[in-house]
Amino acid sequence: MEITSTSKDTDPMILAGFEHPEFDGHEKIVFGHDAKTGLYTIIAVHDTRLGPALGGCRMWPYASTEEALTDALRLSRGMTYKNALAGLDYGGGKAVIIADPKKDKSAQLMHAFGRKVDALGGLYITGEDVGLTPADMEAIGNTTEHVRGTSKSHRGDPSPYTALGVYCGIQSTLQHLHGSSDLHGRTVSVQGLGNVGFTLARFLHDAGADLVVSDINRNAVERAVSAFAARAVDTRDSHKVEADVFAPCALGAGINSVTIPELGAPIIAGSANNQLAEPSDGLALADRGVLYAPDYVINAGGVIALARHDVEDDVLEADVRRIGDTLAEIFERAETDGATTATVADRIAEERLSAADPRS
Ligand code: NAD
Repeated sequence: MEITSTSKDTDPMILAGFEHPEFDGHEKIVFGHDAKTGLYTIIAVHDTRLGPALGGCRMWPYASTEEALTDALRLSRGMTYKNALAGLDYGGGKAVIIADPKKDKSAQLMHAFGRKVDALGGLYITGEDVGLTPADMEAIGNTTEHVRGTSKSHRGDPSPYTALGVYCGIQSTLQHLHGSSDLHGRTVSVQGLGNVGFTLARFLHDAGADLVVSDINRNAVERAVSAFAARAVDTRDSHKVEADVFAPCALGAGINSVTIPELGAPIIAGSANNQLAEPSDGLALADRGVLYAPDYVINAGGVIALARHDVEDDVLEADVRRIGDTLAEIFERAETDGATTATVADRIAEERLSAADPRS
């Protein structure tokens, strides 16, 4: 893929990194290129106070280096908070490859990326993210051992664990609001029936919940309707459904100034990343009395599975189920502190990071 240069107006310091609006004291930012395969990658290591940086690699046809850098900086910081709150002894990092996964992917490109990861000597451990597949993880594993999600590492697809974590998180929200986590007779509106959403729907159905489902993929909707006796709604209406829980499991930024006044459920608890369009939406939800399970806490089951790739299944499952306890702590503290659940989640992560800080 050809890299277009950023606009002439771009401040050159932005590309240097330290002046970048998303720069947040990142420990290391590596720009990697391999002429033979056409690899352009940025690896951002945000924080390693808790351990080596763990976070996936995203392949995307970014329009410019700056756009790719913005994503790498933002996502790697997000991983620091996610891993800290998941109780993992891993820091936060993320890699991006500037390429179109539909056209530019090759085993050689993956090998070249693996060599860049390997050169960091374990400071950064990579995994799957948007644009990459388990087969790509295998290819990366040919040139570095610092990769998760390969067949060598016991478990591949982490999405069942993400779904389990969201399920436990939903139970925790119900417990907090109603004093019981029982799902019998509760209605959950699941938006997005992909890897996570469909498995979540199965857990909820098995536990006795009534389901309302939506997806832009009609086959997925039909499967859910027939497997779980679910009611289908248009994707544009899933947040409006009168339900006990709205579980966004598709795209980010679905909770915003337009959808918040239309919400039909008193709880938001789903797997989608970056659900709030703006940080201020957390306050708007609290003002409306909606209990919000912060996305990066409730959807951590997948990264827990990657981090704890070497433990027995029952140990891993117990770790993932602890997401429910973490959320319970967040909900209680949010009430005591008079803060939003998103703010309290950040505070708890920062407390854990400070406690581990060798400089403090
Ligand atoms: P997926 O691609 O398997 O599924 C996404 C589903 O959403 C697809 O069925 C797609 O058709 C549907 N969809 C797309 N646009 C939609 C819309 N406007 N309305 C309704 N449905 C729509 O992805 P996934 O792995 O199931 O992940 C779902 C979400 O959870 C994503 O935001 C992802 O970033 C996040 N997440 C996933 C994991 C994981 O382990 N897979 C971990 C953490 C977070």
